[in-house]
Amino acid sequence: MAIAIFSDIHANLAALDVAYSYLKNQGISTIYSLGDIVDYGPRPNECVDFVRKHCTVSLMGNHDHAIIGGTDIRYFNVYAQQSVLWTRQHLFKSHREYLATLPFVHQEGDVHYVHSTPLHPEEWDYILSEADANYYFKYTPHRLIFIGHSHYPVIFSAEEGMLPPKSLTLRADDRYIINVGSVGQPRDGDPRLCFVVFHPDALEVEYVRLEYDIDKTASEIREAGLPEYLANRLYRGV
Ligand code: ZN
Repeated sequence: MAIAIFSDIHANLAALDVAYSYLKNQGISTIYSLGDIVDYGPRPNECVDFVRKHCTVSLMGNHDHAIIGGTDIRYFNVYAQQSVLWTRQHLFKSHREYLATLPFVHQEGDVHYVHSTPLHPEEWDYILSEADANYYFKYTPHRLIFIGHSHYPVIFSAEEGMLPPKSLTLRADDRYIINVGSVGQPRDGDPRLCFVVFHPDALEVEYVRLEYDIDKTASEIREAGLPEYLANRLYRGV
Protein backbone atom coordinates (compact mmCIF):
# COMPACT_ATOMS: atom_id res chain seq x y z
CA MET A 1 0.00 0.00 0.00
CA ALA A 2 1.11 3.54 -0.67
CA ILE A 3 -0.04 6.62 1.23
CA ALA A 4 0.06 10.06 -0.38
CA ILE A 5 0.68 12.68 2.28
CA PHE A 6 -0.53 16.19 1.44
CA SER A 7 -0.06 19.26 3.58
CA ASP A 8 -0.76 22.97 3.23
CA ILE A 9 -3.13 22.80 0.27
CA HIS A 10 -4.14 26.37 1.09
CA ALA A 11 -7.17 26.56 -1.16
CA ASN A 12 -5.10 26.13 -4.32
CA LEU A 13 -7.44 24.00 -6.41
CA ALA A 14 -5.35 24.07 -9.61
CA ALA A 15 -2.43 22.51 -7.70
CA LEU A 16 -4.65 20.02 -5.90
CA ASP A 17 -6.19 18.86 -9.19
CA VAL A 18 -2.77 18.10 -10.66
CA ALA A 19 -1.66 16.24 -7.53
CA TYR A 20 -4.83 14.16 -7.58
CA SER A 21 -4.53 13.31 -11.30
CA TYR A 22 -0.99 12.10 -10.66
CA LEU A 23 -2.20 9.79 -7.88
CA LYS A 24 -5.01 8.42 -10.04
CA ASN A 25 -2.49 7.61 -12.77
CA GLN A 26 -0.28 5.86 -10.23
CA GLY A 27 -3.22 3.90 -8.78
CA ILE A 28 -2.75 5.48 -5.34
CA SER A 29 -6.05 6.01 -3.55
CA THR A 30 -5.04 6.55 0.07
CA ILE A 31 -4.48 10.22 0.86
CA TYR A 32 -3.75 11.85 4.21
CA SER A 33 -3.98 15.59 4.77
CA LEU A 34 -1.78 17.18 7.42
CA GLY A 35 -3.80 20.39 7.57
CA ASP A 36 -4.00 23.97 6.35
CA ILE A 37 -6.57 23.08 3.73
CA VAL A 38 -7.66 26.72 3.54
CA ASP A 39 -6.34 30.30 3.54
CA TYR A 40 -4.09 32.19 1.12
CA GLY A 41 -5.79 30.58 -1.88
CA PRO A 42 -9.04 31.43 -3.67
CA ARG A 43 -10.88 28.06 -3.65
CA PRO A 44 -11.42 27.01 -0.02
CA ASN A 45 -14.80 25.35 -0.57
CA GLU A 46 -13.59 23.07 -3.34
CA CYS A 47 -10.46 22.11 -1.41
CA VAL A 48 -12.32 21.27 1.81
CA ASP A 49 -14.78 19.34 -0.33
CA PHE A 50 -11.90 17.35 -1.82
CA VAL A 51 -10.38 16.53 1.56
CA ARG A 52 -13.74 15.45 2.98
CA LYS A 53 -14.25 13.18 0.00
CA HIS A 54 -10.77 11.74 -0.52
CA CYS A 55 -8.64 11.95 2.62
CA THR A 56 -8.83 9.07 5.09
CA VAL A 57 -6.86 11.07 7.63
CA SER A 58 -7.36 14.83 7.90
CA LEU A 59 -5.60 16.88 10.57
CA MET A 60 -5.94 20.40 11.93
CA GLY A 61 -3.58 23.11 10.68
CA ASN A 62 -3.08 26.55 12.21
CA HIS A 63 -5.02 28.23 9.39
CA ASP A 64 -7.94 25.81 9.68
CA HIS A 65 -7.85 26.55 13.41
CA ALA A 66 -7.82 30.30 12.76
CA ILE A 67 -10.91 30.05 10.56
CA ILE A 68 -12.93 28.52 13.38
CA GLY A 69 -11.62 31.10 15.84
CA GLY A 70 -9.27 28.72 17.65
CA THR A 71 -6.00 30.53 16.87
CA ASP A 72 -5.53 34.23 17.47
CA ILE A 73 -4.78 35.87 14.10
CA ARG A 74 -3.05 38.89 15.66
CA TYR A 75 0.10 36.76 15.37
CA PHE A 76 -0.45 36.22 11.63
CA ASN A 77 1.20 38.51 9.09
CA VAL A 78 -1.01 41.06 7.35
CA TYR A 79 -1.56 38.90 4.22
CA ALA A 80 -2.58 35.92 6.32
CA GLN A 81 -4.92 38.08 8.38
CA GLN A 82 -6.64 39.42 5.26
CA SER A 83 -6.97 35.95 3.84
CA VAL A 84 -8.41 34.55 7.09
CA LEU A 85 -11.08 37.25 7.05
CA TRP A 86 -11.83 36.57 3.37
CA THR A 87 -12.01 32.80 3.92
CA ARG A 88 -14.30 33.17 6.95
CA GLN A 89 -16.64 35.16 4.75
CA HIS A 90 -16.65 32.70 1.86
CA LEU A 91 -16.39 29.24 3.42
CA PHE A 92 -19.64 27.26 3.61
CA LYS A 93 -20.96 26.78 7.12
CA SER A 94 -20.85 22.98 6.82
CA HIS A 95 -17.17 23.18 5.85
CA ARG A 96 -16.43 25.43 8.81
CA GLU A 97 -18.15 22.89 11.03
CA TYR A 98 -16.04 20.16 9.45
CA LEU A 99 -12.82 22.08 10.18
CA ALA A 100 -13.88 22.29 13.82
CA THR A 101 -13.89 18.47 14.04
CA LEU A 102 -10.30 17.97 12.84
CA PRO A 103 -7.91 16.24 15.26
CA PHE A 104 -4.38 17.57 15.84
CA VAL A 105 -2.56 14.25 15.52
CA HIS A 106 -2.86 10.80 14.04
CA GLN A 107 -0.88 7.77 15.15
CA GLU A 108 -0.40 4.44 13.34
CA GLY A 109 1.97 2.07 15.12
CA ASP A 110 5.20 4.02 15.55
CA VAL A 111 4.33 6.48 12.79
CA HIS A 112 3.05 9.87 13.90
CA TYR A 113 1.29 12.46 11.73
CA VAL A 114 0.88 16.11 12.77
CA HIS A 115 0.76 19.55 11.15
CA SER A 116 3.35 21.32 13.32
CA THR A 117 5.12 19.38 16.08
CA PRO A 118 4.38 16.23 18.06
CA LEU A 119 4.57 18.05 21.43
CA HIS A 120 1.79 20.60 22.01
CA PRO A 121 0.81 20.72 18.32
CA GLU A 122 -1.73 23.44 19.15
CA GLU A 123 1.14 25.85 19.86
CA TRP A 124 2.15 25.72 16.19
CA ASP A 125 5.91 25.70 16.72
CA TYR A 126 8.18 24.95 13.76
CA ILE A 127 10.80 22.23 13.23
CA LEU A 128 13.32 24.00 11.00
CA SER A 129 16.79 22.94 12.13
CA GLU A 130 18.66 19.87 13.29
CA ALA A 131 18.56 21.28 16.82
CA ASP A 132 14.76 21.56 16.63
CA ALA A 133 14.52 18.01 15.29
CA ASN A 134 16.82 16.60 17.98
CA TYR A 135 14.62 18.12 20.66
CA TYR A 136 11.63 16.14 19.34
CA PHE A 137 13.69 12.97 18.89
CA LYS A 138 14.61 13.30 22.55
CA TYR A 139 11.20 14.07 23.99
CA THR A 140 8.93 11.90 21.84
CA PRO A 141 8.93 8.13 21.32
CA HIS A 142 7.91 8.13 17.64
CA ARG A 143 10.15 6.48 15.11
CA LEU A 144 8.75 8.32 12.15
CA ILE A 145 7.02 11.70 12.24
CA PHE A 146 5.40 13.32 9.20
CA ILE A 147 4.84 17.07 9.41
CA GLY A 148 4.01 20.09 7.24
CA HIS A 149 3.53 23.71 8.43
CA SER A 150 6.77 25.38 7.20
CA HIS A 151 6.00 24.61 3.52
CA TYR A 152 9.67 23.60 3.33
CA PRO A 153 10.30 19.97 2.35
CA VAL A 154 13.15 18.39 4.31
CA ILE A 155 14.11 15.17 6.07
CA PHE A 156 15.68 15.07 9.55
CA SER A 157 17.38 11.81 10.51
CA ALA A 158 18.36 11.14 14.13
CA GLU A 159 21.60 9.54 12.90
CA GLU A 160 22.46 11.62 9.84
CA GLY A 161 21.03 15.06 10.53
CA MET A 162 19.37 17.15 7.86
CA LEU A 163 18.88 15.43 4.49
CA PRO A 164 17.61 16.89 1.21
CA PRO A 165 13.98 16.17 0.25
CA LYS A 166 14.79 13.33 -2.10
CA SER A 167 13.31 9.88 -2.34
CA LEU A 168 14.81 7.71 0.36
CA THR A 169 14.68 4.20 1.76
CA LEU A 170 14.40 4.65 5.51
CA ARG A 171 16.69 2.66 7.76
CA ALA A 172 14.86 0.44 10.22
CA ASP A 173 17.27 1.43 13.02
CA ASP A 174 17.02 5.21 12.51
CA ARG A 175 14.33 7.77 13.38
CA TYR A 176 13.02 10.48 11.08
CA ILE A 177 11.05 13.70 10.96
CA ILE A 178 9.84 14.22 7.41
CA ASN A 179 8.40 17.52 6.22
CA VAL A 180 6.24 16.72 3.21
CA GLY A 181 6.29 20.27 1.82
CA SER A 182 3.23 22.13 0.54
CA VAL A 183 0.77 21.30 -2.23
CA GLY A 184 -0.62 24.82 -2.53
CA GLN A 185 2.14 27.26 -1.61
CA PRO A 186 5.72 25.85 -1.74
CA ARG A 187 8.31 28.07 -0.06
CA ASP A 188 11.63 26.40 -0.85
CA GLY A 189 12.25 28.46 -3.97
CA ASP A 190 10.73 25.78 -6.21
CA PRO A 191 7.21 26.80 -7.30
CA ARG A 192 6.20 23.25 -8.24
CA LEU A 193 3.63 21.64 -5.94
CA CYS A 194 5.10 19.19 -3.44
CA PHE A 195 3.93 16.12 -1.51
CA VAL A 196 5.21 12.76 -0.34
CA VAL A 197 4.24 9.21 -1.18
CA PHE A 198 5.03 6.86 1.71
CA HIS A 199 5.38 3.11 1.19
CA PRO A 200 5.15 1.72 4.74
CA ASP A 201 5.98 -1.88 3.78
CA ALA A 202 9.12 -0.98 1.82
CA LEU A 203 9.93 1.89 4.21
CA GLU A 204 10.27 4.20 1.25
CA VAL A 205 9.56 7.88 1.07
CA GLU A 206 9.17 9.47 -2.33
CA TYR A 207 8.97 13.24 -2.95
CA VAL A 208 6.76 14.29 -5.84
CA ARG A 209 7.19 17.72 -7.48
CA LEU A 210 4.80 18.71 -10.26
CA GLU A 211 4.11 21.82 -12.28
CA TYR A 212 0.60 23.20 -12.28
CA ASP A 213 -1.23 26.17 -13.77
CA ILE A 214 0.01 28.95 -11.46
CA ASP A 215 -1.59 31.57 -13.76
CA LYS A 216 -4.98 30.10 -13.00
CA THR A 217 -4.62 30.30 -9.21
CA ALA A 218 -2.96 33.72 -9.42
CA SER A 219 -5.77 35.19 -11.49
CA GLU A 220 -8.39 33.68 -9.17
CA ILE A 221 -6.56 35.27 -6.21
CA ARG A 222 -6.76 38.66 -7.94
CA GLU A 223 -10.42 38.20 -8.91
CA ALA A 224 -11.25 37.31 -5.32
CA GLY A 225 -9.68 40.56 -4.15
CA LEU A 226 -7.06 38.76 -2.06
CA PRO A 227 -3.66 40.51 -1.68
CA GLU A 228 -1.56 40.62 -4.87
CA TYR A 229 1.42 39.35 -2.88
CA LEU A 230 -0.34 35.99 -2.43
CA ALA A 231 -0.56 35.59 -6.22
CA ASN A 232 2.96 36.76 -6.81
CA ARG A 233 4.72 34.52 -4.33
CA LEU A 234 3.39 31.36 -6.05
CA TYR A 235 5.60 32.06 -9.09
CA ARG A 236 8.69 32.36 -6.92
CA GLY A 237 7.94 29.52 -4.54
CA VAL A 238 8.34 31.64 -1.44
ZN1 ZN B 1 0.46 26.42 5.94
